[in-house]
Amino acid sequence: WEARKLGVSHALRFHSDHYQGEADDLRIVAAIEEMLEAGTFEVHYQPVCRPTGEIMGLEALLRMPHPTLGSISPAIFIPVAEESGLIIPLGQWVLERVCSQINQWKQQGLPLVPVAVNISGLQFRQSDFSSRIVNTLDSFNIPSRLVHLELTETTVLRNISDALDEMQKLSANGIHFSIDDFGTGYSSLGRLQEMPISMLKLDRSFVRGITPASSMVVAAIISLAHALGMKVIAEGVEEESELQVLRQLDCDMIQGFIFSKPLPPRMLEPLLYHGRCDVPTRMPIWPAEV
Ligand code: C2E
Ligand code: MG
Ligand code: MG
Ligand code: MG
Repeated sequence: WEARKLGVSHALRFHSDHYQGEADDLRIVAAIEEMLEAGTFEVHYQPVCRPTGEIMGLEALLRMPHPTLGSISPAIFIPVAEESGLIIPLGQWVLERVCSQINQWKQQGLPLVPVAVNISGLQFRQSDFSSRIVNTLDSFNIPSRLVHLELTETTVLRNISDALDEMQKLSANGIHFSIDDFGTGYSSLGRLQEMPISMLKLDRSFVRGITPASSMVVAAIISLAHALGMKVIAEGVEEESELQVLRQLDCDMIQGFIFSKPLPPRMLEPLLYHGRCDVPTRMPIWPAEV
């Protein structure tokens, strides 16, 4: 499918030789195992902001800086990790890394905002998923409001009654859910209505180049989401014009390069400290509002 095709073209960029299909996948599997063992994966964090630039949350995004293969895109290594089952230990590693990062920020006296962690379908379908999450947060002494879980429509709709059970257990423990890449999975908001979902993340294909004249579908999604008690996050906002339209449509939050790329913790910290993306420690990326 799409991500897979994207992965192949990325692989051509990152590998000096030709893409070798399964042979290349095997190299990536070996690299994932090696980096899990060595603890050399990294987590970057992208701010999720109000349209005014105030930071309301972060998304944790895994990075794979391999010493010889170079930096491999998640579009390549996440599908390989899913197919090989390695996404289970890898996903657990991300969650633990996020928990220890939150504790570090707490120690530094930085203001804490919820961190959203991506959960793949395989991980979510483990029989002990909800207790694993709760136990991990407990063992790091992290309040459940500080970790949100991102699931795709496909993940939650694959086996609705089991998914609902797991989500309700976690929700009862104070954990919030977001639906990632909303709009790409052919589901309707109606099917998600019964689930404890706090946020919809509108896929960036809906955001790209949005104008007042082309905003009907997004306007409808936002008002329906609001009627169902969900907040809407627009993904992949890059342009000032897109931000203006989304603001007009009452979109709750914005995630995209217009505010910040995903950043390593050290580079994120000044933004976290100020609670805003447009802080004087960086070059503004668009003229300050007057
Ligand atoms: P996602 O969860 O939808 O994450 C958002 C992706 O959009 C990230 O790509 C982010 O860098 C990118 N993005 C954010 N703002 C912009 C923008 O303004 N313009 C453009 N063009 N892109 C933007 P990234 O980091 O390459 O991750 C890709 C996907 O890999 C993620 O999509 C997610 O599905 C998966 N992924 C990343 N980390 C993890 C993880 O820890 N676990 C799992 N299961 N999946 C992960
Ligand atoms: Mg996500
Ligand atoms: Mg997304
Ligand atoms: Mg996406």
